[in-house]
Amino acid sequence: MRVIRSPAAMAAWSEGLIREGVKIGLVPTMGALHEGHRALIRAARLRCDALVVSIFVNPTQFGPQEDLAKYPRPISRDRELCRKEGVDVCFEPTMEVMYPSRFQTMVTLPAIARRWEGEARPHHFSGVATVVTKLFGIVRPQIALFGQKDFQQSALVRQLVRDLNLGVEVVVYPTVREADGLAMSSRNVYLSPDDRIRAATLYKSLQAGAEAIRRGVADREGVQSAMAQIVKKEPAFIIDYLAVCDPSTLEPLSVLTSRVVLLGAVRLGSVRLIDNLLVTIPRRAT
Ligand code: AMP
Repeated sequence: MRVIRSPAAMAAWSEGLIREGVKIGLVPTMGALHEGHRALIRAARLRCDALVVSIFVNPTQFGPQEDLAKYPRPISRDRELCRKEGVDVCFEPTMEVMYPSRFQTMVTLPAIARRWEGEARPHHFSGVATVVTKLFGIVRPQIALFGQKDFQQSALVRQLVRDLNLGVEVVVYPTVREADGLAMSSRNVYLSPDDRIRAATLYKSLQAGAEAIRRGVADREGVQSAMAQIVKKEPAFIIDYLAVCDPSTLEPLSVLTSRVVLLGAVRLGSVRLIDNLLVTIPRRAT
């Protein structure tokens, strides 16, 4: 496995392979790799000839009060995981080469990024869209994998690729969870032992929402209150949002259609957790 730090060297590596007709896959990450990332990397390995994992803690997607400085960076462990999974290149650019002092262009946001995470973290998605565009431009993958864990991010990336004709196949991989249902996340290490136990409640609340839908609850408020009831059992949680949305537009649904996505974000102490669940609504005899 090669570690490449300069965008020019990365682009040259890709250029050579593209000329030979090699299919390049990319898994963009911020490092602190866990089993969720490993699953994405394995899925990518099966879909391409040459696999690049980028590890870059992207400053433009962090707000001023967020955890950029303390974000975990266990780079040796990350490289070892990549090596074991048959990754060809770990692309680890520095902040300075990605955003030199003359850097100016930022990608602005489609409607899909306005609500939910976009509202809670105003600059976040512009930073994500910009860095994904840059990574695609440098690595030039034919295929890139993203996790459903960040549902709105994956919807945004699909839209970005369509709107800007980036020509990359986007694959969204299902969320990998801990045994109690908590979605794996690099930020879970911030949870205190007690909060770690409480944290699985967010997923339980999404499951309660899905269960309500299956029982026949057909209005948004009913599903939201089924979710909120579970979260409110844990007074330590502050709810940012519990939403019932159209999976393609991420707009709230008043009448539930055949497929909905339940989105949740809560704060537990200083840690913010997000999760989601796709639900297919059974057809009922009228
Ligand atoms: P991050 O390093 O948090 O930026 O994540 C890199 C990629 O891994 C993103 O596409 C995430 O959606 C994805 N990812 C993070 N956590 C999980 C998980 N638990 N299951 C599946 N994919 C994940």
